[in-house]
Amino acid sequence: MTDSAAQPHEFKAEVAAVLRLVTNSLYTNREIFLRELISNASDALDKARFAALVDKDLRDQDVEPHIQLVLDKSRGVLVIEDVGIGMSQEEAETNLGTIAHSGTLRFLEQVAADQAEGKRPDLNLIGQFGVGFYSAFMVAERIDVYSLSARPGHEPIHWSSDGNGFTVGPGTRRQRGTRIELTLNEEGKEFLDRWRVEAIVKRYSNFVLYPIKLQVVDDKGVTEGDNKQVNAASAFWTRDPKELGDDDYKEFYSHVMGGFVLPGDEPLAHLHLSLDAPIQFKSVLYVPGRRPHDLFGSEEIRGLQLYARRVLVMESCDKLLPAYLRFVRGVVDSEDLPLNVSRETLQEHKSLAAIRRQLTRKVLKLLTDLADEDAEKYATVWEEFGVFLKEGLHTDNAHREQLTSLLRWPSTLSEGKAISLAEYVASMPEGQEAIYYITGESAQALARSPHVEACRARGYPVLLMTDAVDEWVVQDLHEHDGKPLRSVTQGDLGLSKAEAKTKDGEAADDGEEAEAEAAGTADIDALLTKAKEILGERVKEVRASSRLTDSAACLVDEEGGLSRNMERILRMANRDVPSRPRILELNPSHAFVRAANALAQGEGDPPARLRTWVELLHDQANLAEGTVADPAGVVQRIQGLLDEVAGLAEASA
Ligand code: ADP
Ligand code: MG
Repeated sequence: MTDSAAQPHEFKAEVAAVLRLVTNSLYTNREIFLRELISNASDALDKARFAALVDKDLRDQDVEPHIQLVLDKSRGVLVIEDVGIGMSQEEAETNLGTIAHSGTLRFLEQVAADQAEGKRPDLNLIGQFGVGFYSAFMVAERIDVYSLSARPGHEPIHWSSDGNGFTVGPGTRRQRGTRIELTLNEEGKEFLDRWRVEAIVKRYSNFVLYPIKLQVVDDKGVTEGDNKQVNAASAFWTRDPKELGDDDYKEFYSHVMGGFVLPGDEPLAHLHLSLDAPIQFKSVLYVPGRRPHDLFGSEEIRGLQLYARRVLVMESCDKLLPAYLRFVRGVVDSEDLPLNVSRETLQEHKSLAAIRRQLTRKVLKLLTDLADEDAEKYATVWEEFGVFLKEGLHTDNAHREQLTSLLRWPSTLSEGKAISLAEYVASMPEGQEAIYYITGESAQALARSPHVEACRARGYPVLLMTDAVDEWVVQDLHEHDGKPLRSVTQGDLGLSKAEAKTKDGEAADDGEEAEAEAAGTADIDALLTKAKEILGERVKEVRASSRLTDSAACLVDEEGGLSRNMERILRMANRDVPSRPRILELNPSHAFVRAANALAQGEGDPPARLRTWVELLHDQANLAEGTVADPAGVVQRIQGLLDEVAGLAEASA
């Protein structure tokens, strides 16, 4: 079928690599090639519709947009034809010979990694990497593309390839658009079956907005029956929600996500809106089942699909929802926006702000209702998208209250379950006046931190915060329900006072009273002074602790200063943060601290043994937080102590 004027071309290296991948392995779901070609045809029809708005000279403006499939058994050929934008020769050479998409390399890398692990690479995602066209080589030994660009001044072209390079030259097509003929290979022959193809179209392409028609030509070249439309081809969002079930919404979700949803990634919730006043628009939105791993880098925010009176005007519009709701997927169809709206002019339209306001409200209501009605499902939403909602708390003051009610953290008493601030407050025992929290890297480590001891001893829950944004959240919140938020690693917790207050007038049991007394009155002033002398500039201050019950020492920050966790986060973000000395707190009721205090009573320079002990207390406090400045020094000191215990060394005195 190659004519004399056709010029041979080689595929660019990355295309050749994709083709090797597609043709040399056996895949079970070859059928996705049809989804990819139909999606290209639908894109081409979108583009033509869009181009017609600005170009009066576009070819065949009155043609009815549709996609035609022909299963020609007599020739072993499957045809996909559209009357869309078409391709000029130059366009065919670049679009079907090189790969413009930045994702291709990553796709290839991922596939190579899968293969190295002995896994079957997942070709399902091929379309997302901008190489969907080439999936047709899974079923075809040759592909012929006949195309006529809708833009005036271009000649029809014929592109042809057997997978090893391609030729492109003059063609014969008279109507704008593209006709793709797949000469099927042995494995591809199954796609000549009417029922098989009809089922595939329904499965993957039911919501393509243009009619997809299917015609079959039998072995003898005779056309069978009528040219039947096989997809719904209606705007899903215009349908009556009362007539739609969960399965319908799941099916449409799969369409929104590009045709395929992995098992387990089904949406967690959906919303179907149809508003008439003050602005007219319809929308179907989803909370995805999983945080979308942004295939093309986190910079790119994928937005909602924007339609204007059922014409797709923007594939990804990030202006319809505030940035913190960027995990929401779906479509918006406006009756008020003009068809030629663009990214640049969108902001000028009053309806945009109104749509955005409504959508934000409705999405937050959807989440709030879910949290109230299905706590378990909401827990999953929170796990996947909580970090976005926390960002919202910082940026969206108008919905502060609602966003606050959506917050969840595990506490030291919740057994891993993330709880709301309301649940926290309801569980506060009498006498507890603040909401306590601790920030850091791992919930498990935080729960065992010495800083939470005083709260644990009193039965006060402590919220465990491990997201970087939590540092901002607590600063934004300050208090909840009249209770201040207090970090257990900062300032003076004043817990002994609080406890003393509740004990006034009450007969506290003896054990506790004795302990409180010991904590309050044990005088370790001698140790505090000597320890500061020994540690020098490494600590800001050494003081007696009211927050420790079991541990001997911990480090705390000043009230209101940068927390150590915040310093860590800022450093991770490559900020230059000077390390400020912290406050070393010693537990006056701890036997070791008292022993150290006894050593510290003498006049003059602290003895060597006291120096080692104070260093070890300081080491311990650092270790409990997972970081020591001088690990080798710590090891040396511990070894010295162990030698002493084992009688190997003379007591260092
Ligand atoms: P993607 O669709 O992600 O761009 P594909 O590999 O599916 O990647 O298609 C490559 C390119 O080929 C498209 O971007 C488009 O420019 C062109 N193309 C493919 N099919 C058609 C068609 N039916 N009509 C017009 N152009 C097409
Ligand atoms: Mg494509």
